[in-house]
Amino acid sequence: MRSNSPRVLVTGGAGFIGSHLCDRLLRLGHTVVCADNFCTGRRENLASLLPEPRFHLVEADVVHPLDIPGPVDWVFHLASPASPADYFRLPLETLRTGSAGTDNVLALARAKGARFLLASTSEVYGDPLEHPQPESYLGNVSTIGPRSVYDEAKRYAEAITMAYHRTHGVDVAIARIFNTFGPRMRMDDGRVVPTFIAQALAGRPFTINGTGKQTRSLCYVADMVAALIALMRSGQRGPVNLGSTQEMAVLDIAELVAAETGRPVRHTYHPLGQDDPERRRPVIDLARRLLGWAPATSIPDGIAATVAWFREKE
Ligand code: NAD
Repeated sequence: MRSNSPRVLVTGGAGFIGSHLCDRLLRLGHTVVCADNFCTGRRENLASLLPEPRFHLVEADVVHPLDIPGPVDWVFHLASPASPADYFRLPLETLRTGSAGTDNVLALARAKGARFLLASTSEVYGDPLEHPQPESYLGNVSTIGPRSVYDEAKRYAEAITMAYHRTHGVDVAIARIFNTFGPRMRMDDGRVVPTFIAQALAGRPFTINGTGKQTRSLCYVADMVAALIALMRSGQRGPVNLGSTQEMAVLDIAELVAAETGRPVRHTYHPLGQDDPERRRPVIDLARRLLGWAPATSIPDGIAATVAWFREKE
């Protein structure tokens, strides 16, 4: 490490989690280089960061080799479409970003002697046959279904991350991120929290896929960012599950959003998407033990902060 304050590359830094991560790293005194091609991210997520002299934006697609001048100590590799609506729209780009893109970013980390953290996902467990999911669970993933472009890209990304570690000695970490929510999600990204908030604020009924009894474990974005930084600092390799252990039915999430927005609870029911997981909940014992981390924000508080942000944007 070249100084007390590592110089950090965040790929996908214009996205939902990436922009909060850039914010937090800058507040901690780091110099941050954000590389993004804006395929799902937004320039407005970086609006408050762009004037900051320690923040540098590189518009680049990680599918091509990256040119980042100067030293890099830490690499957070978040670049990837992440919501089902996005990866259904961008299937080949998602596969290329997870495969060639991760290869390129690992090559850069190797060349710079940087520690590399992969933002992997609970989707590597697919529609899990074991519940809740510990890191040792190997998954139940379709290789050919519509979600496979994302799930298999991330499984490949984990594999190539470990191959760089074994072959080239790159210092790596794998974070398996579970559902995260908060301000800066796109209203139209198809994920449950922004969808319900957008519907409530527009006075439309909530669209419930399936029975609505399927569950999600929601982690507030500030907690997720704290976990990613703790994992980077820890020197641990993982994979480490990061997410909330509080499982909620989709119908209950709708109730919370209705209560926070003061709108009546009205639903329309729709078919469940193919390969849509019924249940997801991480075992986070490893994160608690190795990182001293667990989510600190209650789901109602997180929903309140997210609704407030969406209201400001109206
Ligand atoms: P997001 O879509 O808001 O952000 C992803 C960012 O990556 C965007 O800014 C996008 O423009 C950028 N990007 C995509 N492909 C790129 C490429 N080829 N080159 C350069 N930039 C590229 O998604 P997010 O929710 O912030 O997710 C961030 C990361 O966390 C992703 O890797 C995702 O798989 C992972 N993750 C997120 C969640 C979640 O609940 N949000 C859950 C599990 C894993």
